[in-house]
Amino acid sequence: MSSVVATTAVRGRFLDIQNTVAQAREIHDQVRYVEDGLLISQNGKIQWFGSWQEGQQHLPVGVEVQHYLEQLIVPGFIDTHIHFPQTEMVGAYGEQLLEWLNTYTFPTELQFSDKAYADQIAQFFVQELLKNGTTTALVFCTVHTESVDALFEAAGQHQMRLIAGKVMMDRHAPEDLCDTPDSAYADSKALIEKWHGKGRNLYAITPRFAPTSTPEQLAKAGQLKAEYPDVYVHTHLSENKNEIAWVKDLFPEQQGYLDVYHHFGLTGSHSVFAHCVHLEDAEWDCMHQTDSAIAFCPTSNLFLGSGLFPLNKTWEKQVKVGLGTDIGAGTSFNQLQTLNEAYKV
Ligand SMILES: [Zn+2]
Repeated sequence: MSSVVATTAVRGRFLDIQNTVAQAREIHDQVRYVEDGLLISQNGKIQWFGSWQEGQQHLPVGVEVQHYLEQLIVPGFIDTHIHFPQTEMVGAYGEQLLEWLNTYTFPTELQFSDKAYADQIAQFFVQELLKNGTTTALVFCTVHTESVDALFEAAGQHQMRLIAGKVMMDRHAPEDLCDTPDSAYADSKALIEKWHGKGRNLYAITPRFAPTSTPEQLAKAGQLKAEYPDVYVHTHLSENKNEIAWVKDLFPEQQGYLDVYHHFGLTGSHSVFAHCVHLEDAEWDCMHQTDSAIAFCPTSNLFLGSGLFPLNKTWEKQVKVGLGTDIGAGTSFNQLQTLNEAYKV
């Protein structure tokens, strides 16, 4: 294929955010809107972007311009928290977090020891993300290594960037969904070697949440993070009041829920904690000091009755926050729909 064939040019209305937004009041300064713009890309990478008037001279000879002046063109959405094995159980009826896990989630996740089944759901999942404009996502798989292989293989076919990992879980779950501290460590390590940084894939160490990991397993997770500092950490934190009370019972020697993760070396600039609906002040400070990030999942928090996330607090405390759909407790793959609910919260 010659380079001319691989060059595309799109004319339309463009909107993006130029830099990381540190504070809410700075958002308006960072938004870039080009009413009549041109984007030239080659082999999938942006070569030139700016106004149509200025851009025409950069157009290679023979490239046909696609016109989308009636549409708004934005960068791909980033979903900061989603479970691919829960694709088929969106809308499961009538429970809060802990009952919902036992009644619906664990039985659904048991099916992912079957690679063929995992492949089928992974394909559907990746297509749903793309259909909704999401090109990057931070994804929970199941405890089975097959689920991770299935997902990264499907993502690779579409050149998506997914950050994903095998769930680590060695207690308070059905026996067939449990690993051990040693097997979780060995399996995760093998998956990091196999997938992290291969193509656009990145790996996340993924303990489900503190109640389903023994201290021994969390120590193994921390050991992995120390050995591979550039991999991500992805887990749940302070979603539901019964869950928080349970963590305090299970880890009486720690200062609170976040301190469990912090104690085992799992906080940091590559750590993303889903929910954080009920953080205490000391935990907000720890999030800030460790440069950890929050995935705000409004449709999930509303669906499970977990509570209303205090978004203003992220600005006040200078904590990074992104939007997550949290399928399947969340109810839509669509980030615009998720933003809609975020606004109401
Ligand atoms: Zn979740």
